[in-house]
Amino acid sequence: MKLTIMTLFKETIDAMLAYSIVGRAKKNNYIAIEAVDIRPFANNKHLQVDDYPYGGGAGMLMMAQPIYDCYQFIKEKSTASSRRVIYVTPQGKVWNQKMAEEFSKEEEIVVLCGHYEGVDQRVIDEIVTDEISIGDYVLTGGELAALVITDSIIRLIPGVLGKEQSFEEESFSDGLLEYPQYTRPAVFRDRKVPDILLSGNHQKIAAYRKEQAIINTFHKRPDLLELADINKSERHFIDDYIKKHCKKGQDVL
Ligand code: SAM
Repeated sequence: MKLTIMTLFKETIDAMLAYSIVGRAKKNNYIAIEAVDIRPFANNKHLQVDDYPYGGGAGMLMMAQPIYDCYQFIKEKSTASSRRVIYVTPQGKVWNQKMAEEFSKEEEIVVLCGHYEGVDQRVIDEIVTDEISIGDYVLTGGELAALVITDSIIRLIPGVLGKEQSFEEESFSDGLLEYPQYTRPAVFRDRKVPDILLSGNHQKIAAYRKEQAIINTFHKRPDLLELADINKSERHFIDDYIKKHCKKGQDVL
């Protein structure tokens, strides 16, 4: 997969891309990822990239021309047969794990980071295929959003997490939150790791973890249970759990 982030703050992106799992994925050629600075594409003497909005109003807007030319540069260098172009914006569809899974199968993704009051609508109309938000709040610029989105995509690409880590049982992968996890020591401040996890019985451990994932989801995000990937007996388990643990009249699901 090739990922390109169009930004006015290339150093911010470069610094983050050098580390951790993303840095390793890049080094081991699981992905090609780079940030491209929009500013050098401005066709004016002072490399100005923003201007006042027509019709008045507060703040400045990113101009269409530098973004469009930057995108053409990226496109001309590319050999990909298909490409999604994301504009990160508070007005977009709110990002989630399902979308990360969908985008992780793409050949090429380009992300446009806005700044100031945003971007001239005409370049959005011209090049963007997807408008994506990372939540209902307003950030100063799109860089953090682009990093959130690209990180969640990259870790789903086969090979990136390595054998020792896996996303298959992580929160949201089957519509549930993950079960609680424990590491050494077996007792910490009188709190003991559940016996079953020390039993070595993998089948029982798997069943226990699924139940714990359901309970965890029920308490923290009951809204997810409606659509979660759970079978009939697991549904019964939830019903029994609700009967045993919820007070009469309490609105739960
Ligand atoms: N005036 C814009 C509006 O009201 O929709 C907000 C502009 S915001 C100050 C500047 C830039 O930050 C946006 O162009 C966008 O790229 C990015 N941004 C801000 N909040 C975001 C969010 N929740 N998700 C994704 N990107 C965001």
